[in-house]
Formats: sequence, structure tokens, C-alpha cells
Amino acid sequence: MPRSILSDVCVFVSILLASATLAAQTPIAVTAIRAGRLIDPDTGRVATNQVILVEGNKIKEVGANVAIPPGATIIDLSKMTVLPGLVDAHNHLALTYKPDPENNFYYLTYVMDSTALRAIQAVSNGIQMLDAGFTIVRDLGNNGNYADTALRQGIEQGWIPGPTIINSGLIIGGMGGQFYPTPEMAKDHSIVYPEYLDADTPDEIVKAVRQNILFGAKVIKICVDCKPYGYTADEIRLVIREAAKAGLKVAGHVQTANGAKNAIDAGIWSIEHGNALTDDLHKLMAQKGIWRAGTDTPDTLAGHPVTPQAYQRTVAGLKNAYDNKVLLTFSTDADYFVQGKTRGEVCMEFLKTWKDAGIPPAEILRAMTTNGYKVTDLDKTRGPIKAGFFADLIAVSGDPLQDIDALKNVQFVMKDGQVFKKDGVMTPAAFFHGGPVNGWRIR
Ligand SMILES: [Zn+2]
Repeated sequence: MPRSILSDVCVFVSILLASATLAAQTPIAVTAIRAGRLIDPDTGRVATNQVILVEGNKIKEVGANVAIPPGATIIDLSKMTVLPGLVDAHNHLALTYKPDPENNFYYLTYVMDSTALRAIQAVSNGIQMLDAGFTIVRDLGNNGNYADTALRQGIEQGWIPGPTIINSGLIIGGMGGQFYPTPEMAKDHSIVYPEYLDADTPDEIVKAVRQNILFGAKVIKICVDCKPYGYTADEIRLVIREAAKAGLKVAGHVQTANGAKNAIDAGIWSIEHGNALTDDLHKLMAQKGIWRAGTDTPDTLAGHPVTPQAYQRTVAGLKNAYDNKVLLTFSTDADYFVQGKTRGEVCMEFLKTWKDAGIPPAEILRAMTTNGYKVTDLDKTRGPIKAGFFADLIAVSGDPLQDIDALKNVQFVMKDGQVFKKDGVMTPAAFFHGGPVNGWRIR
């Protein structure tokens, strides 16, 4: 090694050592939360008068007789129900289509809103999701030119508050993705890219998956059957194999029974949208342990009318999946503006479909928590209120095990050990920083 590089390396190493020493000297914040009622959604059990001890960004201890160390900040939630953070397993935070001017037609949103503007929307939408109690969001494409990766990095590096983001980067599909461009506009795929990443041949499929991995995807999203020339089971297997090299799972947008069959045969991780899923397909999904992200839209969203027939089909589909013991996730696809509601409040409206399907509150809560941690592949580190896990938790005044709508009124949110919302008011100051305080190496 030339001398100059060696001395550069020495300087770099001593800077690293110095900053490590500094970090070691900073006292770790300790917080003790008094929880009147603490729900474990996994078992459906409730423990009363618990203390949750949080050290830094992790949960240290939970129990009725936990000693509170001197100097700990005490948060009194003794009149509230505390539970782990919620998960939306299907959203698009860097997309907000609107009645005006684009008449809810997101092809036009894509033409009119720059990626830069959409990245700013994503930050705001992420904050609105956290405010509603969603501490994890699976962000599945239609996010401009990797604005989803930028959002995830911004949150993880410590610039802004937001949920933990599991993002897909660009949606990979056969030519055109979900768009129907004119031949003129499709020249060189310019109108499709970067909203979709065309991949028609095996070589293109491998390259597309690698591009997403390179640019920060944490899950791979494909259009299984957006066009008549959708992917075969073998092509989906190729996606799964390539994604697995980086430890990523594959989520498939499915809109036909044939597409669903191919995705199930290939052993896809999750199927997005429930419309095409029949009783037979649900049985196969249950057998193979494939997640259902049904995106089960309610009939109450102003400006987004659903016909009674369509809504009945959605409810019947979700009920059939539940009866067949399919692995269910709470998923919304809520990527649009509803007058008077935040993004998080729009997502909470989806509880109606679950209630109308006759699914008990404890099971709905499990879909929003335990199953959410699993489908995002975070369940080893994040989710449960247990020692060693990241400290993400929320509190409500009612009892969601009796009335799931209690979740619509989240009073308290802690994310990574820091209080984001208290007494029903967002207090995010501690999350904003002038630089990447958690390190710029988070990619
Ligand atoms: Zn979607």
C-alpha cells in the first residue's frame, strides 16, 4: 500500500475510534412506561399494571415487578391500553392521486408529479401513518424513481420521523407494467419507466431484480399478470431465486385466477389484492403458507365509490380466506387523497371491511401486528413488546379486543424508543436532525 493511502487509513481509523469513544460516553436514555393494560396480540392475552423498561431504542424488560432505575423518564399510560405498533402490508407512500385535477387516475399523477415532489409527499405520508399508529409499512412500488428508498434511508439515518419502511423499489413486470401507453409515448419505454421496470426475458428479469437490490429495495414486487403475457410459474421462480440472493422476499400483484395459480405454484411470498382469489386458490395458499395482502377496500371512502356488489365480493373474499385459515395481513393500497382524512386515517377505514367479514377483533389485531411483522420479515427484531426487540409501541384509551375501532384513536406512539405522540398530539421534535445521526452508511 502506498504511504499516502496508509496515512489516510490511519487518520480515518483514529477518527472512527474517537467517535466510538464519544458514543460510549453518551448516557443511554432509560424510559419506564406504566401500562394499565398490555395486549399481546400473538396470544390475545391482556396483562394489567405492567412496566415496560426501554433502554435506548430497545425494550429491556417487561413485567409487573420491574424495578424502575433512578433517573428513568416515567411515562404514565396506566389508564390506557398499550399494544405493539401496527403494520400496513401494502401501501405506496410516494404516490397520492387525487380527485382534482387527475380524477383519481394515477397514470396522470405520474405524468404531473415529479419524483422530488412525490418524495416530499412520502415523508408527509410516513408521518401521517406513524401518527395513526403504523410503525411498519410495506411500500410496494409506484414510488417514482426510488423515492421509497430515499424515504427509508431518511428515516433510518435519522433525518425524519416515520415508520420502518420495507420498500420494493420499482415494480417489475412484462412490457408496460400496469400502464397502457400509446405507441408514441412508449417509445424507448420512456412513459413506463421509472414507474415500472420492464422485464420480459429471463436475462431482463435477473437484471431488473438486481437493479432494485442495487438501489435499495428490501422486497421485490412484480406484476404477475397485469398483461395477457404475464409471468409463468417458472419466470416467477427465477424472480424468487434472484431476490433470495439478497435475502429478499417476492410480493406479486395478482388480478387473474391464472396469475394467482402461477404465483402459488412458484411459491411466492405474498399475493397482493384479493379480487381474483377463489375458494380453491385460498385453500392452496393456506396449504403452502402464502400471505394474503388482500387490500380489502371499504365502501365508505368519500370520492372513491365502490358498488354494493363489488364491496360484497370483497367482504366475501376476505371471509372465505379467513374461513380457509389463509395467512392474513392488514393491507390497504391506500395511495390516494380522501378529503378530511390523513393517510393513516384512510388506512384505518379499512377496518370496516374486516368487521363486515365477521372477523373477530383479536384476529384483526393479529393481522395488523403479529402477521404484519412476519410478512415484512422483521419478526425477529421488531414488533412484539418483549425484551430485546426495538421499542415500537402505541396506546389507545379503549379496548381493541372488544371494539377494534378503538385503534382509530391512537393517543400515544413510541418508535425506536422515542416518543412520537403523547396525549393524542404529535411531538416529533426528537426525530428531526440536521444530519444522518444514525450513520450515513445505512443503505
Ligand atoms: Zn398497490
